[in-house]
Amino acid sequence: MMMITKEEILNLIQIARNSLVYSYCPYSHFPVACALLCHDDTIYTGCNVENAAYFGSICAERTAIVKAVSSGHRKFRAIAITSNLMNDICAPCGNCRQFMVEFGKDLIVILANHNNDEYKQYTINDLLPHSFGPENLTDYYKLIAKSSSS
Ligand SMILES: [Zn+2]
Repeated sequence: MMMITKEEILNLIQIARNSLVYSYCPYSHFPVACALLCHDDTIYTGCNVENAAYFGSICAERTAIVKAVSSGHRKFRAIAITSNLMNDICAPCGNCRQFMVEFGKDLIVILANHNNDEYKQYTINDLLPHSFGPENLTDYYKLIAKSSSS
């Protein structure tokens, strides 16, 4: 069971809110941003980055995770996600839920709206129960994955 303090949560939410300005969303006009807290307390931010070829767009959550993993981090404690919705939270899409569960089912997911300190707190396992993850792959595929990473 991953632990997080209220102070850490509010800090993450504020960092996520501060990153909304970087969102590149000329097509949806729906900015989303997040802050990802690593085990060593490093924080990576992310925003959605859309593309004229719509399918090339990437969500804020995957942006932050890709930044973290490509910088050497694979263990995460929490992610706070926000949008410019004043009175509603923004939940991660299915693709991002799958991306998050890859790195641990106990990741804390904080969903915050834009204008106050109310938020909802889940684990990724709450949001994607009965998920398919690395533990489901056979030893054969684990062996392949091992030899092709590093
Ligand atoms: Zn997404």
